[in-house]
Amino acid sequence: MDHFLYQNGELFAEDVSVAEIAKVVKTPFYLYSTATLLRHFNLFDEALAWGPHLVCYAMKAASNQAILKTLAEAGAGMDVVSGGEYARAIAAGVPGDKIVFSGVGKTHEEIKAALTGGIRQFNVESEPEMRVISEVAVSLGVVAPITIRVNPDVDAKTHAKIATGKSENKFGIPIAKARAVYAEAAALPGIKIVGIDVHIGSQLTELEPFEKAYAKVADLTETLRADGHTIERLDLGGGLGIPYTRSNEAPPLPMEYGQMIQRSLGHLGCEIEIEPGRLIAGNAGILVSSVIYLKNGEGRDFLILDAAMNDLIRPAMYEAHHDIIAVEEPIAGVDQQPYDIVGPVCETGDTFAKQRNLPPLTAGDLVAFRSAGAYGAVMSSEYNSRPLIPEVLVKDDHYAVIRARPTIDEMINRDTIPSWL
Ligand SMILES: *Cc1c(COP(=O)(O)O)cnc(C)c1O
Repeated sequence: MDHFLYQNGELFAEDVSVAEIAKVVKTPFYLYSTATLLRHFNLFDEALAWGPHLVCYAMKAASNQAILKTLAEAGAGMDVVSGGEYARAIAAGVPGDKIVFSGVGKTHEEIKAALTGGIRQFNVESEPEMRVISEVAVSLGVVAPITIRVNPDVDAKTHAKIATGKSENKFGIPIAKARAVYAEAAALPGIKIVGIDVHIGSQLTELEPFEKAYAKVADLTETLRADGHTIERLDLGGGLGIPYTRSNEAPPLPMEYGQMIQRSLGHLGCEIEIEPGRLIAGNAGILVSSVIYLKNGEGRDFLILDAAMNDLIRPAMYEAHHDIIAVEEPIAGVDQQPYDIVGPVCETGDTFAKQRNLPPLTAGDLVAFRSAGAYGAVMSSEYNSRPLIPEVLVKDDHYAVIRARPTIDEMINRDTIPSWL
């Protein structure tokens, strides 16, 4: 459920007209709903209310400072995957003891920054990384709390580019090696083991792969405890999928996910951490764009938009589907017609959708891409020298630009000319 609905014949974000924002901000832009962000965070928080837990928002999904602050004020922790994200979380007011640090290649500098600024735990991805974390901690005179990310070798049944839990993926240590790696960890001077971490992929639409992975984590918890390790936290990663089309069968709800976690792991008495990204931000954001031209091609009509693959890369990168709707509500009974919906970038991959039914549209009309809040703005670039587009946040009946569009000059002036030119 989200807060982008038609009211009085036009699309609203909460209580603000999308067309009104477009007049001021100019298209294209990302538009987020505070109420939807908070609703999704609270659904997870309630789904885990049966025991001690922390919902750590995977901020790589959408990391604008205003979004982070909105969630942090509601009590969210953060899952960060780089020193830049760590600094963003701290800048948004998230205390270090609510930040977990994931990612396969944490550098010496990133580890040092997190140990200095405060960190809840590192989710270790390899033995060499674990040794470096220990060395850095010893050099700072502290002890680093860690979990080790295990790779449970389960099929997440999602797009190959976002599946992470098979043994052929680069993530975590093979679960079969876990006892040996935990034994090494216990012997390192700068490390304190606090639990186990697992994350098997993104946009999962069934509970079964999670359930398989968590059963393995439950067994491993008992094995490691028998070996004498303290396992008091289980970080279960993110990955719960969202409905990208309204016709699709809906993925499991956070409440069902939380109940499955309780069934699988509740008996172990651990604090549960989860790292949802997409489900919190995905349907809390839309991309608003204008039609530049209606081009009548051979046997098909193209809607050429002012948004392009550099603004929203998911269709080009993951063959992802986004529902695209007219901002002006279609009049009941008006015939829809099929369009190919494309951006102006010089690549055939810059195609958002083919043969998509929409009411008749023409130059100047506004459209909205639904479910664009996660892995949208954060993956955008200035390819074709198209400046990064603004981000806007709505709350009730007001809105604010939370990242302004750079001017063309600002974009150019980030480059510097060497002395010999
Ligand atoms: C990407 C990622 C997440 C978030 O995944 P979503 O599908 O957005 O929920 C959580 N944890 C880790 C380690 C990740 O890499």
